[in-house]
Amino acid sequence: MSGVGSEQHRAFLMNSNIHPLERAQFTHNKIDRPTRPDVEAAVRTIIQWAGDDPRRDGLAETPSRVARAFEEFFSGYGQDPAEILEKTFEEIEGYDEMITLRGIPFESHCEHHMAPIIGQAWVGYIPNGRVVGISKLARVVDVFAKRLQIQEKMTAQIANVIHEVLKPQGVAVVIKATHHCMSTRGIHKAGTDLVTSRMLGCFRENAITRQEFLGLAT
Ligand SMILES: [Zn+2]
Repeated sequence: MSGVGSEQHRAFLMNSNIHPLERAQFTHNKIDRPTRPDVEAAVRTIIQWAGDDPRRDGLAETPSRVARAFEEFFSGYGQDPAEILEKTFEEIEGYDEMITLRGIPFESHCEHHMAPIIGQAWVGYIPNGRVVGISKLARVVDVFAKRLQIQEKMTAQIANVIHEVLKPQGVAVVIKATHHCMSTRGIHKAGTDLVTSRMLGCFRENAITRQEFLGLAT
């Protein structure tokens, strides 16, 4: 993939699970973003609906705090994960073994209840002549985590973008996370975690490579 504006990059955005607001930057279909006062009014409505008085002292600043918190929770919509991975290093002395960043902590929110998903990701790849700075792997996890998610989709998105941009011999991603929509509401099963994985290239084709990675990730 050569520049962010290239046809190939545009095709990648259309095919992957990109938020409509982000896609709009590339297709020039402007989607109206509500204003900050609109969002604060919505938070006041929720407070009132819950049964409290949004005008009382303790709650007066809450709508603006909630808006700022949501800006942080959903900052991933404004970031392009492919761009993060574009700078690579080729002076690697022929290094062609597995590179695994383990236990990357993340916080996300489920797209069904907007409840927290708290977990860790293990991201591995076997390079094909070039590597990325290891912090970039953690940043890619964060870009997808800071959106409304389901864990299965997030796992696939992380693996897919590394595979598309870095073109390694293979990519493996494992995510383990607890879902607050399962522990604090609904079925109330605290203490469970969900494990998902996506294997591409040599990790999918070669059981020994896959086992080596899973040995590091458990
Ligand atoms: Zn949920």
